[in-house]
Amino acid sequence: MGLISKRTITFLEQLKKKSPCPVQEVDGRDVEFIRVDGKRTSTVKQIEYYAGRYIHPSSLISQDGRIEIKKKMTSPEKEGTLSHEMGHARCHKNNCKCYTKYNRVLQEIHAELYALHLLLRHGKVNALKVRFDRLRNDWNGWPHCEAKAVIRNRRIYKRCQEFVENYDLLFVV
Ligand SMILES: [Zn+2]
Ligand SMILES: [Zn+2]
Repeated sequence: MGLISKRTITFLEQLKKKSPCPVQEVDGRDVEFIRVDGKRTSTVKQIEYYAGRYIHPSSLISQDGRIEIKKKMTSPEKEGTLSHEMGHARCHKNNCKCYTKYNRVLQEIHAELYALHLLLRHGKVNALKVRFDRLRNDWNGWPHCEAKAVIRNRRIYKRCQEFVENYDLLFVV
């Protein structure tokens, strides 16, 4: 009788499975092809990735839709980023008003609320800490700053904060 190694699936892998669209881990830099009249042209543009992005199916870049997250990040950073981008993908898929009315601030609010709920539900304390670092700071501009200000007043934000604080009290001597 052989030992069957049953590797436990990481939270990041779980998220990728749950994602409404394919997830790719990408380098910090990539080229972007511009589509003109539905045809991909040779025009390329160097783009700098931030943590991640959701590319919708009808966009100029991708016809099937995908999420890209930066390869060079820690696991908690990836977990938080992917959760956020999955929030965007879900809204888009469900024809949420943030997409049908193309409200960029609302898109960011919905994506982040989704991420916070998901991370709290799974008790992802380190990923939540990374999200807080982002949410507390206003270094990035519109529409993120406006979205952050709204989220900081939401109950889920306080609940996540309490969870992180209590967790630290329990496990740090
Ligand atoms: Zn939405
Ligand atoms: Zn976003």
